[in-house]
Amino acid sequence: MPLSFDFQINFGRGASVEKILLRLAISFLAVIPAFAFASIKMDLKPYVDFALEWTSYSYHGEPLPKIKLERHQLVQIFAYGDYEYAQAESKGVELPTVYAIYLADEKTIYISDQLPLNDKKIDVTLAHEMVHYLQDINGYTRSLNGHTVCSESEAYDVQMLWQKIKNVDPESIQYVYQRSTLAAIECMGSKGSAFHSAMQN
Ligand SMILES: [Zn+2]
Repeated sequence: MPLSFDFQINFGRGASVEKILLRLAISFLAVIPAFAFASIKMDLKPYVDFALEWTSYSYHGEPLPKIKLERHQLVQIFAYGDYEYAQAESKGVELPTVYAIYLADEKTIYISDQLPLNDKKIDVTLAHEMVHYLQDINGYTRSLNGHTVCSESEAYDVQMLWQKIKNVDPESIQYVYQRSTLAAIECMGSKGSAFHSAMQN
């Protein structure tokens, strides 16, 4: 990557190390607002109640997750990991859009800034993410040892139920159903491919 014009001028005039560091610090500060995320206050009770109703998890008043609005690109990177994200970018492959993600380590739901806050899809998204929250606090997520795809089918199923019962975005339900099935097959690993071929014949 070529150095920017601004950067070359600063080095070209024999700037001292202090000046260079100061310059770098200022450039860094200028970048921060782009990374800043907004915390959102939301009543998560309806979503946790819904997820409890359709799963076998329990909830004993643990603190509910924080919600933060984050840049779309970062939410995609959180969801796919930087390696898979970069691979897809370089191959020009479009990864399915992820509108939100629950990070268990931070007990935080990150919502993509691409989704308008008054959009009904926010509710759908929260119903899905609250399943991940319950999986986390009930010890299921940890038991997967990183094979997190196994947590997805259940979250998609609860999401579908929310969409169906509350009549939100009904045309996408079929797609969500496919995602759920795919996640269940992926969860099975090599047995998943065997299952898939057996079902095709
Ligand atoms: Zn999920």
